[in-house]
Amino acid sequence: MKFFLVLSFAVLISLSLAAKSRDSIPEEYKWNLKDLYPSVEVFKQKRAEFAKKIEKLAEFQGKLGESPANLKACLDAFFNLNRELDRLMTYVSLRADENLGNSENQKLKNETFNVARKFGEYASFIEPEIISIGEEKINDFIKQDKGLKLYELFLKRVLKGKKHILSKKEEALLAKTSMIADTAYQTYSILSYTDLPFPVVELNGEKVRLNQSAYTKWRSNPDIKIRNIVFPKFFGTYKSFENTYGTLLYSQVKKDWFYASAKKYNSCVEAALEPNEVPVKVYTNLIKVINENLPSLHRYLNLRKKMLGLKELTYADLYTPLVKSVDAKYTYKEAQKIIEDALKPLGKEYHTYLHRAFTERWIDVYPNDGKRGGAYSSGNAYDVHPYILMNYNDDYESLSTLAHELGHSMHSMFSNTYQPYVYSDYTIFVAEVASTFNENLLNHYLLTHTKDKKMKMFLLGHLLEGIRQTIFRQAMFAEFELEIHKKVEKGEALTGKDLSDLYLKIVRKYYGHDKGICKVDDLYAIEWAYIPHFYYNFYVYQYATSLIASTHLAQKVIHGDKKDVEEYLGFIKSGCSDTPINILRKAGADLETDVPFKTTMKVFNQTMDEIEKLLKEENK
Ligand SMILES: [Zn+2]
Repeated sequence: MKFFLVLSFAVLISLSLAAKSRDSIPEEYKWNLKDLYPSVEVFKQKRAEFAKKIEKLAEFQGKLGESPANLKACLDAFFNLNRELDRLMTYVSLRADENLGNSENQKLKNETFNVARKFGEYASFIEPEIISIGEEKINDFIKQDKGLKLYELFLKRVLKGKKHILSKKEEALLAKTSMIADTAYQTYSILSYTDLPFPVVELNGEKVRLNQSAYTKWRSNPDIKIRNIVFPKFFGTYKSFENTYGTLLYSQVKKDWFYASAKKYNSCVEAALEPNEVPVKVYTNLIKVINENLPSLHRYLNLRKKMLGLKELTYADLYTPLVKSVDAKYTYKEAQKIIEDALKPLGKEYHTYLHRAFTERWIDVYPNDGKRGGAYSSGNAYDVHPYILMNYNDDYESLSTLAHELGHSMHSMFSNTYQPYVYSDYTIFVAEVASTFNENLLNHYLLTHTKDKKMKMFLLGHLLEGIRQTIFRQAMFAEFELEIHKKVEKGEALTGKDLSDLYLKIVRKYYGHDKGICKVDDLYAIEWAYIPHFYYNFYVYQYATSLIASTHLAQKVIHGDKKDVEEYLGFIKSGCSDTPINILRKAGADLETDVPFKTTMKVFNQTMDEIEKLLKEENK
């Protein structure tokens, strides 16, 4: 089931700050939800019909094993309903996001979520019943009824779960534990975002409460005196709760191990990755290869030190922009032209969809009063087309976000066009490949089309920071996450201090502290307490693998030939018709090898060569 929207990594859930009313924005800049349903009345009628139809699913219960025809009829009904539900959910979600303050639309959304929940309940017998029929009989059924061939992979995936299914009694008991499973994370959130007593400090004559959002705003300040207030004060607050944070994270990891071992997995990382068809090797390979490539990170840190004119680089100097942001302006019309040109290598069909996105109102462009902040692409309406929510602001950030979201949308469009509904939905593991691929092509296009040195430096610096933050930093988190789970799996207990000691060791290795490259003070040992992702069960490594895969694929398209383009298109046409690793491998990015990593590190180093060349010219 796939009624959740793909959100971009940097999505802001805050309301947009615009003051314009939605009515004052011309229609051509608003998405056209009439492609989903001509009116709310029609939508409500369809939803009522849907709610009736789901009850019919119950007629199949207990009968799937009777004949291939029964099984096929049930799966046809189930997937057709899912397909309708995706369309219903898309409509209400998008409508609600137009203005979060509109209570009628919120109500429409909540009612529809309830219908979805009911559908989930009615359909909940299907997977356990398939498992109880067993592989042998299912395979016989597929041989007998050609119509079942379509569902072969789906059935295989369901049957694979069998290894980890316990007795009915045990499963019921386990299900009940979910009630108490999120205590650590809930407490973590309340402590971090409500109770933590952040200090008020004076920055640039302004009194600032130094909470998480103030920290992200001020940590990049070019004035080192300000940074030297911000960093110690901010992390000092976390440090004074080291014991509490330690107990919370230890509880969370114990919880992960409880479920992993109860479900007969060998490790927490296996329990997290296997259901998504990602081999543990992809995870360990990432950490191994990144460790081998730390000298490239160190080269970048030395370059950063030089460009910032510092005698010594410290952990508080990492976020200051290498180059002052350029105030280049891109109107929405200009952005369309740039993106179409930048993505031209992808050929005619890609271009046709892109053009449709711009001209057939797939995109809700500008901010308005009450509109949801940030940006996302929603590609769930299989029979219609993807939609994009933007808060376009005429700057570089907006241009690059638009290219990013269009990457998601084109991925959806191609997968929805080339795959049957049942395999159209791509997995989270590959989702951010298509989007960051577009950012790669955009960056390349702008670099080759600008003569302005400042702009060039800005784009090159942007690329380097992207790789540092998305690949090295996330791999570092992934390494820490794996280590702490391993310790708990071995029966070790973890205190706040243990976590800090381990974290500091890893950070210092990554940032070359002992080599005198970047000084990491003892205080930053507590940074782990600031990262909520350690409660997301092996999630962050995907940020790194996605950018590595997309950088490799983009290089292939930029420097390659028709075959490389075809391979890329093959990837976005694939949906979930194979495992995510196989899909990427077929496209030429095998994440079980070090090839895509090597390409990415080559790009990283070439970008530094380029910057050094520009710096030399400047000094002439
Ligand atoms: Zn995204």
